[in-house]
Formats: sequence, structure tokens, C-alpha cells
Amino acid sequence: MSPQFIDTHIHLADDRFFPYLEQIVNAANAIDMILVANSEDFVSSTKNLEIAKSYPKNVKAFVGIHPSESLKENVEDVVLLLAKNRGLVAGIGEIGLDRKYTDNEEDYRVEKEIFTDMLGFAERLNKPVSVHSRGSVDDVLEELCNHSVDNVALHWFSGDLNQMKRASDKGYYVSFGPAAVYSKKIRKVAMETPADLLLVETDGPVPYGACFGGRMGWPLYLPSIIYALAYERKVGYHELSEQILQNSMKFIGDS
Ligand SMILES: [Zn+2]
Repeated sequence: MSPQFIDTHIHLADDRFFPYLEQIVNAANAIDMILVANSEDFVSSTKNLEIAKSYPKNVKAFVGIHPSESLKENVEDVVLLLAKNRGLVAGIGEIGLDRKYTDNEEDYRVEKEIFTDMLGFAERLNKPVSVHSRGSVDDVLEELCNHSVDNVALHWFSGDLNQMKRASDKGYYVSFGPAAVYSKKIRKVAMETPADLLLVETDGPVPYGACFGGRMGWPLYLPSIIYALAYERKVGYHELSEQILQNSMKFIGDS
């Protein structure tokens, strides 16, 4: 399939999506969309690999430990899963740093250790990474500097202009989600992001407010995100959509 859209960050293994999984993949298939299924822990990594096996045309599985799970997860389990499924694992994610999940420096150190381990696997296996950097862009950029991972996406980027510039100078992809449709602040950063580093995602089933009425982040929201970015950047929808598609294919290593 030559895709038209790639949702570069979604949590298909999430329980909230589970009852709708088949409909979601069928809807994605109907508009030639690839879903990059990110994981938070061993259980969701295992589920996403199963989903990717069931729907090879539309689903790519990323395996990883989310910062929210870094204090609970056994890294060895995830490492073993990675080793056993090298061919099926399309990337490493969701990984990253977030002080919201820690209340002391020692716990944050554990988060950092796991993030570093995960980046090490991405480096060795030559896989792309999807990185969570909420409130921690500076620390994330510092850790990334110690690794040579070719394809890095800063998912749901919420940093400022300066941080976006530092990330894009390194060649990292910067990804925007449904919040870009209603947040002027996010669109301002998206507007300045180099066209060849822009990605879009839903991070579903995370729910969105404003025009999305608190609904879960469905993959079919993707065209509205692209439209909002195209409008802000004063370029045509199709032109930007094609550019984002090319970027996304490079990110997942499909071109
Ligand atoms: Zn996520």
C-alpha cells in the first residue's frame, strides 16, 4: 500500500480503544493510513506487536517504556521482547522524560536510566524513536546528544520556539496533534518548524477539548490537524499533506 496518511503516534493497545480496534484499523485502511502504535510497558508492547501481526498493512508497532511506567517496569522483560521480535518491532517508543511522574531526584534518575537504555537499543537495532518530552525538552535533548539515533520524533511537542529550533537543528522530527487545531501557542511553534521535519499524530485515545468536545483522539482527526497547519503556514493542504507523508515515511524508515 502506498499510504496517504501516517498517524505517527497512537496507543492502539489502550483499553479505551480495544472495543473499537477493528473499526479503527478498517477506517485507517479505507483512507490508506498507517498507524504507528506506541507502547508504555511490557503488556502494551506485547499487545501492539500482536496487533501489528494481525494488521500488517496498517499497523507498525513501537515497543518501549513510557516515563510514567519507568518505576514499575522490569526493563529485562522489554529487552527480551525486543530481542525476540526484532523483525516485527518498527521502532522504540514511547520513551522519554517527565518530572510529572516523579517527586524526587532519585526517581527522575531511574527515568533517565531507562530512557538511556531504550535509546541504546534504538541505536543498536537502528530503529526510530518516539520521544515524550513534556516539560523536559532540555533534558531530552541532552540525553539524545549522547546517542546516535537517526530518526527521532519529539511527539506532541509542547516546547517553546527556541527548543523547537534546537531540536530541528539536530534534525529531529517535531510532531503535532489535535491540540494544534485549537491552540494558537502550539500552531505558532508548528508554523516555524522546518517543513521537512513536521509530523502529525493523534496520541489517541488521549481525549481533546475545545472543538473535539472531549472525545478520544481518533486517527480520522489527522486531516484536520494537517489542514490547521497548512492554513497557519499559508500553504496548500495537499502540498503540506504530501510533505508530511514523505517525512513520516522517512521517520519510520519506509522510504
Ligand atoms: Zn503517547
